[in-house]
Amino acid sequence: MDERKCPLCSEPAKQQIVDLDNWQIVKCVGCGFIYADDNMPVDELKRHYDDCYEDTRRWAELLDKISTRRFSSLLKEMRGRTKIGRLVDVGCSFGAFLEAAQKDGWEAIGVELSENVARYGIEEKHLDVINAPLEQANLKDSSFDAVTMWHTLEHVPHPMSTLHECARILKPGALVAVEVPNTTFQLAKSKVFSLLGKPEMGLEKGSHLNHFTAQSLRQALKMAGFQGIEIIPGYGSAHTHRTLSLRLKESYGDFCRQMCEWTGAQLGNTICAFAWKGVETSELQTQEKPFVSVVVPTYNRRCALKKTLHSLFRQDYPHDRFEIIVVDDCSSDDTDKIVTSITHLSPVELKYVCAHSNMGPGASRNLGIRKARGEIIAFADGDIIPCSSWLSNGLQPFMQSPLIGGVEGMTVPHDEGRITPFTHMTANTTGGRFPTCNMFYRKKVLEIVGGFDESFYDRGSKVHFREDLDTAIAVMRRGFNIPFASGALASHPPHDPYMRRPIDLAKRYFHDPRLMQKHPRKWRKWIDPLKIGPWMVSMPRHKLYSLYLACAVSLAPAWVLGDFTLSVAVTAGFLLCSLGVIALHVRGCRDCPIKDIALAVPVALACPFVFAYSWVKGWASKNENGVDP
Ligand SMILES: [Zn+2]
Repeated sequence: MDERKCPLCSEPAKQQIVDLDNWQIVKCVGCGFIYADDNMPVDELKRHYDDCYEDTRRWAELLDKISTRRFSSLLKEMRGRTKIGRLVDVGCSFGAFLEAAQKDGWEAIGVELSENVARYGIEEKHLDVINAPLEQANLKDSSFDAVTMWHTLEHVPHPMSTLHECARILKPGALVAVEVPNTTFQLAKSKVFSLLGKPEMGLEKGSHLNHFTAQSLRQALKMAGFQGIEIIPGYGSAHTHRTLSLRLKESYGDFCRQMCEWTGAQLGNTICAFAWKGVETSELQTQEKPFVSVVVPTYNRRCALKKTLHSLFRQDYPHDRFEIIVVDDCSSDDTDKIVTSITHLSPVELKYVCAHSNMGPGASRNLGIRKARGEIIAFADGDIIPCSSWLSNGLQPFMQSPLIGGVEGMTVPHDEGRITPFTHMTANTTGGRFPTCNMFYRKKVLEIVGGFDESFYDRGSKVHFREDLDTAIAVMRRGFNIPFASGALASHPPHDPYMRRPIDLAKRYFHDPRLMQKHPRKWRKWIDPLKIGPWMVSMPRHKLYSLYLACAVSLAPAWVLGDFTLSVAVTAGFLLCSLGVIALHVRGCRDCPIKDIALAVPVALACPFVFAYSWVKGWASKNENGVDP
C-alpha cells in the first residue's frame, strides 16, 4: 500500500485513528483532515467501480427509484441560490440527477469515471455523459452556472485538484454544490458498530478515500477559491430501497436540518455544501473616485423626480465621474417631458430610458443596470432627496475592501408634519433593511446575483415588495458585506395619504412566502427586524398580527364552548393585541387630526386579515411565479 500525503495540505505526517485491517484511516497532523492512507491510482478506481456496478440495469433502476425525492429537494436548494443555466454533474452515476435537473430547466451534462455506468447513461437514457475523471473531461473555462457533486468528492484521489477544476470551469459567481458523508457522524457510527465487531460500518473501506467533516469541507472549498460557503445537513445517500427505512432517514434529515438552523450542530449522516466561485478580487478593486451610474427608477412621480434630479445635480462628486440614468416605468404623467426640460441644467450626462410596459421597480432597476457604464451603481428612487455628499460618502466603503458588495445609505423622514396613518414612509436610520431607494452596489456583484428578481412584482395589482431584501440577501449569501453608511444621507418625504393605503400595504405580504422559499433559513434574520435594547425581535409585525388573528378567531368558540376564565382571557388577549395593532398603525404621526386617527382604527383592525389572506395567497402561488429570476 502506497502512503498518501494529506490531500488538503500535502502534509506527510499523520496519526492513525482507525485500523480496518489493511486499510488505515488517518488524521493529518497539519490540518486535521481525515483520509484513507491509500494512494489508489485512477485506473484501479475505475476498475473498482466497473466491477461494483456490473449489473448496470438493476443498479440504475434501484438508484432511480430511491433518489427522486432526494434530488428534487437538492434542486430546490439550488434554485434559491442561483439562476438556472448550464450544469455539470460530476460523478453522475446512471444519470438520475441529470434527468431531474433537465426537468427543472437545466441544460445538464455529466462526468462519470466508470465506463459501464457512463455507457448506460448515454445509450439507455440518451444523456450527455463524458466518461473520464473531471480533470480529463476537457471542459471549457468559465462555462458553467453550476457544478454538482453528490457523493463524489469522498471517492476521488485528489479532492483539491477536483475542486480547483470545478472552480476553473465555473463562471465567476457560479454555484458549486457538494454532498458527502458527515465524518463526525460516521466515525461515531463506526465506534458503536466496533462493539459488534464491525468497525468498518460507515467508513466504506476500499471506496471512501476522503472523510470530510463540515469544518474540513469548508476549508477545502475555501482553499479552492469558493466563497459564501453554507453547510447544511445533506439529503442522504440512501443505499436502501425499503420504503420505511427511506422515510425514516428522510425524517431524520429534516430533523437535522431544523437542529442545524437552531443550533448550528451537524447531526446528519451527510453534509451538503453550497458555495460560489469567488470573483477575482483584482476585478473588484476600486480606485479612488470610481465611475458611478446613478439609477433613478420612477413611476408617475414627476414633481418629486424633479427635486431628486436637482439634488443629484448638486453632488460634490466630480462631475466627470458619474452619470444619471432615469428609468421610467411607463409613466402616464409626462415624466419624459420633465426630464427633457431639465436636461440642460445637468452638469453630468443624464440619460432617459423608458420601459415598454409597466414592469415594476425591480425590472426598472435591471434596465438601468444594463444601460449603466459605472463599476458602481447607486440607486436613488425618484422621490428621495440625497444630500450633496451622498455619492462621495456612499462610495467610501467600496475603496476599503473588494468584499464590500454593497452599501446601505441612511434614509430619514422629511416633512414629518405630513405623516398620518394613511401615508407611507420609508425610513432607514439603523441599517439592516436594505431599501433600494437609497443603496449602492457593485455592478459586477449585481450581475453575479442576476440583478433584481422581477417576480416580486404583481403586475395586476401593481404590488411590489421584498425585491430589495431578496437582492441584499443574495449578495450577502455570496460572502459579500453590505455596510451601513450614515453619511450617505437622503430624506424621503411621506407619500400622499389615502384611505386604503394601510390595506394596500398589508397586501404586499403576498411576496413574503416567495422570499422565504428562495432563502430558507436566511430570511428569518432579515425580515423587518426590530431592535429593542440588546434584543433583536424578528418579524414583530408578523407576530403581532398572528396573535391578533388567533385571538380574533377564537373569540366566538371560547365564549360558546369554553369556561368563563378562558373566555375572559381570550377577550383580554384580543383587546391587548388590538391596541398593539392600532399603535403600530398610528405611530410616528404628529400633528395629525384626531379625525384621521379615529378613521385609522377600523382600517388598522382590518389589516391583519388582509395580511393573512395575502400571505396565504402568496404561499399558494409561490411556485407559479417561476423560479428563474
Ligand atoms: Zn492536512
